[in-house]
Amino acid sequence: MNPTYAYKQPKTLLNKGTGFLSGYTHSLNPYTGCAFGCSYCYVRQMPVSTFKGFPWGTWVDVKTEAATILRKELQRAKLKGPVTIFMSSSTDPYQPIEFKEQVTRTLLQVMTDVIPDFLFVQTRSPLVRRDIDLLQRLGNRVRVSMTVETDREDIRKLFTPHTPPIAARIHTLKLLKEAGIPTQATVAPILPSTDNFAHTLYAVTERVCIDDYFMGDGSGGRRTRNLGIQSIYEQAHLEEWYHPQAYLQVLERMKTVFPENRVFVSQRGFEP
Ligand code: SF4
Repeated sequence: MNPTYAYKQPKTLLNKGTGFLSGYTHSLNPYTGCAFGCSYCYVRQMPVSTFKGFPWGTWVDVKTEAATILRKELQRAKLKGPVTIFMSSSTDPYQPIEFKEQVTRTLLQVMTDVIPDFLFVQTRSPLVRRDIDLLQRLGNRVRVSMTVETDREDIRKLFTPHTPPIAARIHTLKLLKEAGIPTQATVAPILPSTDNFAHTLYAVTERVCIDDYFMGDGSGGRRTRNLGIQSIYEQAHLEEWYHPQAYLQVLERMKTVFPENRVFVSQRGFEP
């Protein structure tokens, strides 16, 4: 899949943290659209996608002048009080075009200069390792959350065929940990995994967050139902994993390996 790219200067970059992100003062999306195009992505049903007129995952708008705009907004926001930023809520800040365009990197450069009180970086891309030098400069004011929904590569290919391999994500968590950067593995949405999953994650990170469609899609699972995700489970004869209680099995596995206070469920695991 080759997405169509466009270049657009946004009016603003920092948006108010609302709903699931109400623990944050702001959300920050370096791009509009996302080339990873995950089958279960709830953004597919949001106005940003539905008004576009093209399928989610086939287009990406690169935000131009982003660093200049962020610097001004950040300076202004910091005058009003603490600033906590979630990057990103409706795109992946390290999707493939970031390798060339470096919008996220320039935003991080701004944030090592005008430092927010806390920055949460949500990605599923090993490209984040490129920015270890900048992330280190944020010390404990940053956490990199790497999405690892499963440890099964066949399951990844089934649900999110355009995303980076699981092994590369796990290796990236290891590199980030070795570089002293706070991390978590984010098992969200939980997908079918093996008994060894918790051990695999514990070897590379100290913290894990679990979420599913029913708690985490902002609509009690309705958005996900509308996407027809259930049919993927049915085709693979994995229906038992598409259930509001299915996360409990993964949660128990995590709790047998991670200390209890390092295992988070749903929104709590995304908070500053
Ligand atoms: S990486 Fe995130 S924003 Fe991008 S398609 Fe997947 S779930 Fe949606």
